[in-house]
Amino acid sequence: MNQVSIIIPSFNEEENIALIYESIKKEFTALAYDFEIVFVNDASTDRTLKQIKLLSGKSSKVKYISFSRNFGKEAAIFAGLQHVSGKAVIIMDADLQHPPHLIPSLIQGWEEGYDQVIARRNRKGEHPLRAVLSSTYYCLINKVVDVKLEDGVGDFRLLSERAITAVLSLNEGQRFSKGLFSWIGMEQKIIDYENVLRKNGQTKWSFGKLMNYGLDGLVSFNNRPLRLCFYSGALILCLSVLYSIITFVQILKTGIAVPGYFTIITAVLLLGGIQLLSLGVIGEYIGRIYYETKKRPPFLIQETNIRNGVAYEKNRPRIYQIRHYRGN
Ligand code: UDP
Ligand code: MG
Repeated sequence: MNQVSIIIPSFNEEENIALIYESIKKEFTALAYDFEIVFVNDASTDRTLKQIKLLSGKSSKVKYISFSRNFGKEAAIFAGLQHVSGKAVIIMDADLQHPPHLIPSLIQGWEEGYDQVIARRNRKGEHPLRAVLSSTYYCLINKVVDVKLEDGVGDFRLLSERAITAVLSLNEGQRFSKGLFSWIGMEQKIIDYENVLRKNGQTKWSFGKLMNYGLDGLVSFNNRPLRLCFYSGALILCLSVLYSIITFVQILKTGIAVPGYFTIITAVLLLGGIQLLSLGVIGEYIGRIYYETKKRPPFLIQETNIRNGVAYEKNRPRIYQIRHYRGN
């Protein structure tokens, strides 16, 4: 029987681990597929790992990878993808916001031959301000980035073996999965579902984290902000040259007028602002180059119970990690 792997990044989700396991198990009883769940514990500070180990003690279908510190959801997804052994993988959140009852539809899409079957949520029940900010962000960002980023489309999706290999072959350190999934392309099917609110625990996304995520999306997939700096710089330079020539001619004709305080201060502030903004944009890219040249692994594994169940080995980029095998 073919196996489908489920990756669940988990950070402080102690109340949800058993719930999500039961829901997934229920879904698979009616399916002609075997399953494995790979929980990626992102250094939770509560009893998440304990709950996962409890399950893995009971069922060999439950596997886990536990990070040495919090590396974030993106790294957790990457780690999961490197360790799955199924013919397809489904990535879902631990908090049941990605409803397990969609699993059969995702698998059906895969059976139809799609490489990516994407679950797309609406924004029902969400804070209106967040909904408005998000849709504005997606509207704007799609005008500048090279890939298509869609509102309501996240990491909740099924990837075929081919898609997994493709995603893993992109070995950039700072990963923006949404963009990477879109970048690989392939045959895609979208399944819509109603937004579900988190039942237990709290969201890990503060406003600041969301802003950073948004910026990651912007600068990970294009160099247009750099171009924008260049063009606005060039435009301002032309205007200043024109202004100097006009003023110089005027001085020659009528002599020096009373020095214009307003003009000077406006020019200084405007130019200063544009320069700082441009420096910020350049700095953002240089920062990325800095981290990429270090070639640090995107995560370190503290412990795991996965030993030989690693598929797609040939295509995997090499990573360096602390490994400490326990369990079965
Ligand atoms: N998560 C993680 N590491 C983090 C933050 C979150 O692995 O540093 C996991 C979290 O446990 C959950 C998923 O990522 O399974 C989505 O997080 P959350 O529900 O907080 O995000 P939201 O649904 O609010 O966008
Ligand atoms: Mg959530």
